[in-house]
Amino acid sequence: MPALSGLGLFPNTTPMRKVEHIGIAVKSLEISNTVFEKLFGAPPYKSESVESEGVNTSFFMNGPNKIELLEATNPESPIAKFLEKKGEGIHHIAFDVEDIVAEIARLKAEGFIVLNEIPKKGADNKLVAFLHPKSTNGVLIELCQEMR
Ligand code: ZN
Repeated sequence: MPALSGLGLFPNTTPMRKVEHIGIAVKSLEISNTVFEKLFGAPPYKSESVESEGVNTSFFMNGPNKIELLEATNPESPIAKFLEKKGEGIHHIAFDVEDIVAEIARLKAEGFIVLNEIPKKGADNKLVAFLHPKSTNGVLIELCQEMR
């Protein structure tokens, strides 16, 4: 990987590389799993609960693209609040990063509001951090780094 010298403050940072997945908030994982299974012609390859976030998730692969469905497990879950305010739909876009700690520092320095400055364990073997939609034109952005 070539060094990136254009980033000034954080010369060793590799910025966000690609969309890792798109997260969709759903009322019922059971119902939506069948909808997306029909859509993609394949069942989810993984289902996982993240108790700390109050979500059940399932993951679909479609070619190189990954879709995460999220269902709330309790009324305090961020997904429950999202559904209440906006209804079902696209909840976040996740970007793959090589070094999440460096990316958090870079984006914070750029003025983005980082919701958790200490990366936490997300679904699908990832360390994750979120940017507040207030600082990203209304889109919740997730950074995720594969746990090694
Ligand atoms: Zn996600």
